[in-house]
Amino acid sequence: MEFFSTSKTLGILGGGQLGKMLLYTTRKWDIKTSVLDPSENAPAKLASDSFEVGDLTDFQAVYDFGKKVDVLTIEIEKVNVEALEKLEQEGVKVYPQPHVLKIIQNKCLQKKFYKSNNIPTASFEEFETLDQVKEAIIKGELSFPFVWKSAEMGYDGYGVSIVHSNKEIESLNTGPCLIEELVTFEKELSVIVCRRPQGETVHYPVVESEFHPRANQVEYVLCPARISEQAAKKAVEVALKTAEAFGQIGLLAVELFLTPEGDILVNEVAPRPHNSGHFSIEASYTCQFEQHIRAVLDLPMGKTANKTAAVMVNLVGKEGHTGPVLYKNIDQVLAIEGVIPHIYGKKETRPFRKMGHVTIIHPKIETARKIAAQVKETLSVISK
Ligand code: ADP
Repeated sequence: MEFFSTSKTLGILGGGQLGKMLLYTTRKWDIKTSVLDPSENAPAKLASDSFEVGDLTDFQAVYDFGKKVDVLTIEIEKVNVEALEKLEQEGVKVYPQPHVLKIIQNKCLQKKFYKSNNIPTASFEEFETLDQVKEAIIKGELSFPFVWKSAEMGYDGYGVSIVHSNKEIESLNTGPCLIEELVTFEKELSVIVCRRPQGETVHYPVVESEFHPRANQVEYVLCPARISEQAAKKAVEVALKTAEAFGQIGLLAVELFLTPEGDILVNEVAPRPHNSGHFSIEASYTCQFEQHIRAVLDLPMGKTANKTAAVMVNLVGKEGHTGPVLYKNIDQVLAIEGVIPHIYGKKETRPFRKMGHVTIIHPKIETARKIAAQVKETLSVISK
């Protein structure tokens, strides 16, 4: 309660679109915020009370920023964890906690965490160098196809490759990596869980993601997922177990594979607002951003049920277009009932850059999906 209309400050590391959307809630509740981002033109800049430019991976920048706030959260995982550990020791409330971020920043640590906590995940092996991967292939210990993942640095499918041949290995980064079994899955699902410091836990309905065939990026998110009740129940159980194992405070988006046999495997998690939860702004009683603010400020969790079915379409920069952005035909999609565009405020577009999203709400998920395809067809993110 002490955050409402007082001088206490919530700090946010990262001022991208997720930060901007977190600020919709702090504006609504008149909660004072301070944002740190490397870019002078970060999307969150306008809505924060105070905005600082700084390197999120730099110890001093994060530490100095954190000393000035009462609660510190993130909208991006790639931040300096050592600074967060020191801040936590010195009494700043840091959510998600540094120990969670440390595990998540490294895909090998993350996979080992699942294994040691009996959380179902695709089988994997850890390698220090790419040469060791090649040796394992020569020795017959590893066979194609498999999934290669860079241990650090990956996001939005960069740093992940499905490898079918020796030739494809040559284009990979040579550092530490994870080699995973290529899972044949029926659907990619996601469950967003949110935990409060004393452990009160809520979860959103299961969503399914449809991927862009070439960019390996999520194109559509559907809520609720079109899966059996049994599969949904299992997905929620696994997601809750995962959030509890981490002891996560705040949102935890758990990305899952549903196999043809009906098994649920955890792919990875994100301890922050997530693209697969954007539908919640319009479709849920409590959107994911408000839920995260509630959790990190230790306020009661909000109702997570849907008011309606929804489909979210990511608006990414069109191929062949780089430069000042133009949202072509946005007026046409605004004329369709139940279509709500979100524009992140990035001034420059480039191929596949996330520039916004559109939520389509409709009582019937199949109808929402059809309208979503129409939106995708009509609206394009191009350069002027
Ligand atoms: P990122 O951290 O870049 O989002 P992910 O680990 O989520 O990387 O992988 C990106 C995508 O690659 C997944 O959403 C999925 O489509 C595919 N993928 C990842 N791991 C596997 C796997 N073991 N088997 C099959 N497909 C996978």
